[in-house]
Amino acid sequence: SLTDKLQNVFKNLRSKGKLTEEDVKTALKEVKLALLEADVNFKVVKQFIKAVEARAIGSDVMNGLNPGQMVIKIVNEEMITLMGSETTEIKMQPGKSITTIMMCGLQGAGKTTTTAKLAGKLKQRGKKPLLVACDVYRPAAIRQLQVNGEKQQVDVFSMGDNQSPVDIAKAAIEHAKKNSHNVVILDTAGRLHIDEDMMTELQNIKEQVDVHQTLLVVDAMTGQDAVTVAKEFDDKIVIDGVVLSKMDGDTRGGAALSVKAVTGKPILYVGMGEKLSDLEQFYPERMASRILGMGDVLSLIEKAQENISIDEDKEKEMAARLKKGKFDFNDYLESMKQMRNMGGLTSILSMLPGMGKQLGNIESMIDEKQLAKTEAIILSMTPDERKNPKLLNLSRKSRIARGAGVDMAVVNRFVKQFEQSQKMMKQMPGMMGGKRRGGFGG
Ligand code: GDP
Ligand code: MG
Repeated sequence: SLTDKLQNVFKNLRSKGKLTEEDVKTALKEVKLALLEADVNFKVVKQFIKAVEARAIGSDVMNGLNPGQMVIKIVNEEMITLMGSETTEIKMQPGKSITTIMMCGLQGAGKTTTTAKLAGKLKQRGKKPLLVACDVYRPAAIRQLQVNGEKQQVDVFSMGDNQSPVDIAKAAIEHAKKNSHNVVILDTAGRLHIDEDMMTELQNIKEQVDVHQTLLVVDAMTGQDAVTVAKEFDDKIVIDGVVLSKMDGDTRGGAALSVKAVTGKPILYVGMGEKLSDLEQFYPERMASRILGMGDVLSLIEKAQENISIDEDKEKEMAARLKKGKFDFNDYLESMKQMRNMGGLTSILSMLPGMGKQLGNIESMIDEKQLAKTEAIILSMTPDERKNPKLLNLSRKSRIARGAGVDMAVVNRFVKQFEQSQKMMKQMPGMMGGKRRGGFGG
């Protein structure tokens, strides 16, 4: 599956320390193949790969993430963009007592089922829908809508199979007015293939009945064909949105990824099964993470992002103090907290130019195992001592050692290291406030 393939690609990336242009290109070549195999439109794939590549090469790796995760982040974001970024709700027509929705699509796509599913959703929103049997070519279709309507406990309007769909729709709207329905959903007839008669019939309904929303139902299992169908319907009758049915099947994700890019029309809902409750709002983020199949990495990325915004103000403050050479134990405590949040000091420092050599030093200073001890030492200091490290004489240090439950030597070593790092930081005034924020916003 696409998910498996992508995971393989990223596993290879994840085992590498640093991401080069070559790495990005190689990985994206595989992503490209995987997407094509998932039946994503080739133009969409080309555009997608270009966008990811442009962002990935030369972008800063975010704190708390490794280069591979950074590429995942970009691939994920671009996928979301491709699918339309935000969730589109079905709109009620402003200023009208009745909103009329026309369902269309090929035969077997899931129109009748989706009509009944949608009625359930609208009922939950306090609406009173009326379902209309406009498929006059198959008597079984009328019965199917009636059965489904009954299950949903919503009214179904039908006039048998001797009337034209336009006349049925007109009569249904009159019926809806009299019976205080506020949503009318027209279940129309499909054909096995795109067909002039079908398009003409739908055009007629749109022209002669006040249709406010035209929703196209396409079968996700048909992959790229679903996208082609969507394009043709939109060209001929203009659709407002798409319902992607049968996403519960062994679908390859291609349709979900390309519909918006090819037609410009959003996916509103996805069908997740045959049951009438199996209709879900379409969330581009969820679909992207489903396709990527990397819930753990994506939540890590989210966490890293959250920490950044929370810590941003404190960090600015700290950077200012640093420039003035006023970095004290309180700042140290704060920065320890931040570094912990961000997934390790080393990953942050390794991104600073010229920090390679110093890294060993600092790493041992803030080794995770020592972190708790260090914290205990600082917490055993008085507020004055934390603000002014120069106060720390022998008796104060011995009191602190007892408070923290460590040997005096440990306190001595820590204070010495702190003074050293203070000196070092003074020599690198740009360190905390500068460059490393560059790549975050994307
Ligand atoms: P229509 O010809 O477009 O009206 O299609 P139908 O609503 O009659 O659906 C055709 C078949 O697809 C039926 O057997 C439905 O139960 C099935 N179906 C519709 N939507 C879904 C879905 O989201 N998942 C699954 N698994 N089956 C669906
Ligand atoms: Mg039908």
